[in-house]
Amino acid sequence: MTGIYIHIPFCKQKCHYCNFFSRATLRDKDAFLKALQSEIKNRKDYLNGESVGSIYLGGGTPSLLQKPEIEEIFRHLYKTFQIDADAEITLEANPDDLNRGKLDELKTTPVNRLSIGVQSFHDDDLKYLNRVHNAEQAASSVRNAQDAGFANLTIDLIYGIPGLSINKWEYNLQTFFSMDVPHLSAYSLTVESATALHKLIEKGKMNEPEENESIRHFKMLMERCRKHDFVHYEISNFCREGFYSRHNSLYWVGGNYLGLGPSAHSYNGISRRWNVSSIHKYINELPVANEVFEEEVLSLRQRNNEYIMTSLRTSWGCDLQHIENVFGEMAAEQCLGNAKKFISEQKINKVGNKLFLTDYGKLFADGIAAELFME
Ligand code: SF4
Repeated sequence: MTGIYIHIPFCKQKCHYCNFFSRATLRDKDAFLKALQSEIKNRKDYLNGESVGSIYLGGGTPSLLQKPEIEEIFRHLYKTFQIDADAEITLEANPDDLNRGKLDELKTTPVNRLSIGVQSFHDDDLKYLNRVHNAEQAASSVRNAQDAGFANLTIDLIYGIPGLSINKWEYNLQTFFSMDVPHLSAYSLTVESATALHKLIEKGKMNEPEENESIRHFKMLMERCRKHDFVHYEISNFCREGFYSRHNSLYWVGGNYLGLGPSAHSYNGISRRWNVSSIHKYINELPVANEVFEEEVLSLRQRNNEYIMTSLRTSWGCDLQHIENVFGEMAAEQCLGNAKKFISEQKINKVGNKLFLTDYGKLFADGIAAELFME
């Protein structure tokens, strides 16, 4: 299975913590959509004719697009690629866009899964994050989506926000579980450089997230999801059985995907491409050059390390046999040798030929993965 990601680079306003490529204006939307059509056509061979099992419209805020604009994107995709009849087709949406009229329209497009950027059910958190919606819209957007017939839903929550007490976080989780939504992505707030949040903290205008608080939230998240029979299938992702995100799983198991739109990444098992992070370059250079990406051919060592980094974060684990088959015996031996310390510290479980992070190990996921890398 392969996937297609489309980056819609527009938002109503910029969230303080956001380091995704997007602009807070719709000024170039028409020109962007035209350029996107060219890119779809230009890159029709990237997936080697393999069928597409997932399409993901992310951003940015794809729910800012009008129904005819969404339909036009799909018209070009279906004309160009072989798309499975049961493909998972996700659209990222902000709660303030999801009124009943909009949802009824979306229901008539190929979109069959919504990812709603709730982030919190508390107004003060949403203000801290500079989200455009409020807590009431966060809750009503989910109800509206369900009333419109979208059963395959996921919401995003953010924890570790300064001022988000453990009781408030518990309320967010309880609210989520009361909504009968089958998938949850929950992320720890991180302060990336070059974001408004970074500058505001530096100027002393906003409090910095505290790591210990974030760890407490994460522990509660794991415990509550377990209690509600949600599978913790990736560090930040939880679902009811059968509701795994096919698209994101593709990234984590090293599947091939084509990324379209400014800043989108593509991967075909050998090389990685990334499109320019500029709307103007994307619009103006695409018709002339036919391509707007840079490319890096990954070495065996890079591919091995990417596999370790992504697989260790999942419930499917890091398979030493796979490493041996694809990257060689020495790579597997090195990975296991480096893992021994973490096995004795009970941060990693070894079951057969597979390595899994324990709940305790999940607190240190990226650091542990880096120590298992091939040198
Ligand atoms: S809505 Fe999403 S993409 Fe847009 S600014 Fe906020 S976090 Fe970034």
